[in-house]
Amino acid sequence: MEAQIGMGGEMSRVASLKFGLVRLRRRKVEFYCHSSEGESVCGMDLNQLLYALIPSWNSVALLVSFFTYLAFAGSVLPGKLVPGVALPDGTRLHYRCNGLLSLILLVALLGTGVWMEFVSPTVISDRGLELLSTTFIFSFLVTLVLYLAGCKSHDQSSSLKPHVTGNIIDDWWFGIQLNPHFMGIDLKFFFVRAGMMGWLLINLSVLAKCFQDADLSQSIILYQLFCVLYILDYFFYEEYMTSTWDIIAERLGFMLVFGDLVWIPFTFSIQAWWLLSNKVELTKAAAIANCLVFIIGYLVFRGANKQKHDFKKNPKVLIWGRPPKVIGGKLLASGYWGIARHSNYLGDLLVALSFSLPCGISSPVPYFYPIYLLILLIWRERRDESRCAEKYREVWAEYCKLVPWRILPYIY
Ligand code: NDP
Repeated sequence: MEAQIGMGGEMSRVASLKFGLVRLRRRKVEFYCHSSEGESVCGMDLNQLLYALIPSWNSVALLVSFFTYLAFAGSVLPGKLVPGVALPDGTRLHYRCNGLLSLILLVALLGTGVWMEFVSPTVISDRGLELLSTTFIFSFLVTLVLYLAGCKSHDQSSSLKPHVTGNIIDDWWFGIQLNPHFMGIDLKFFFVRAGMMGWLLINLSVLAKCFQDADLSQSIILYQLFCVLYILDYFFYEEYMTSTWDIIAERLGFMLVFGDLVWIPFTFSIQAWWLLSNKVELTKAAAIANCLVFIIGYLVFRGANKQKHDFKKNPKVLIWGRPPKVIGGKLLASGYWGIARHSNYLGDLLVALSFSLPCGISSPVPYFYPIYLLILLIWRERRDESRCAEKYREVWAEYCKLVPWRILPYIY
């Protein structure tokens, strides 16, 4: 199998050599470097890796085009206007949930561009490293601006009130304002949308590379299929995002911006890159088991999030066909929320595992995402517990007594 990553003309900007072809073979990366004198083969060393990471104007243009499209589509395309949760000052933000339409239109536009040969389907996978560094630099710069704007703000509304500790690193990392806006765009909502769409675009571009190399395995199909379903589902239920921890409780600093723009698209797609250079033969039983892990994980993840969302909207909503068990008039203690206090995390972890299982068990690399998510969700569950304990006090204590398991019944 051969994968070609044409680094194009901008490589000559960083070296006199032009890296025209990268050949990825079973965990071995070789660069075919050809200069004007002729062609030679050399291994990929640290210098070349660093060169590949240097942002080019092309990667800047790709990123700017993507953000411009998202800002435009997010503002003009129709979508349900969803009120966010009530903020401490009693106000609510409103979110236009048109992510699914924006995504479908974007993929259709890109598909047309590819068909008309305006756009290379592998443009993202060819520039993976430089797009990574460009996005990283953008995240850094934008959070500096957010930090400065936050420090200068005198707004006292809950969404814009500055929370300055005086520790520059702390304030830049965790952010100063809860929901900063730019030209009428809610930046937090915008960045998470960009990250999820970016993940899909990277995957599709890597898939195009597999097509190009005529190397489409069952593993690649399973991984791509699960991710497409998960991302489409995310945008289908985009309004549920408006009541998640990130949106309601986390301020917008480097941690969140980097997480949305760099971490989600570039690390969640590791399996796609890995499968590009590693062949895995799945048995029929393994493939079926893999599908089952995805389906069960998805049902628990989506079911739990949906039950909570519906309950918040209507505390009398039927849960699994029965009136809900409610504690203190505020907390749902039936359905998935009567099994564990964060069954939604369990579902998400199973789905994450199903993204990695197509890669087999020969390497830990494709398991980066589920391992990271396990650590993140345990940490987050602890933070959420202390927030809820403080907010709901004795009602929360009663809930914990009734539902003792945090994520996985009888284990944790
Ligand atoms: P939750 O959706 O679980 O939200 C927690 C909040 O829900 C609590 O603060 C509380 O808020 C409310 N709540 C908790 N228990 C109850 C209950 N029994 N009844 C009613 N309300 C309750 O957490 P997250 O926002 O962290 O996660 C949302 C989804 O996003 C999850 O499925 C998670 O797996 C996923 N996720 C994925 C990540 C990834 O990288 N793939 C990263 C982070 C999250 P309130 O004060 O409003 O009552």
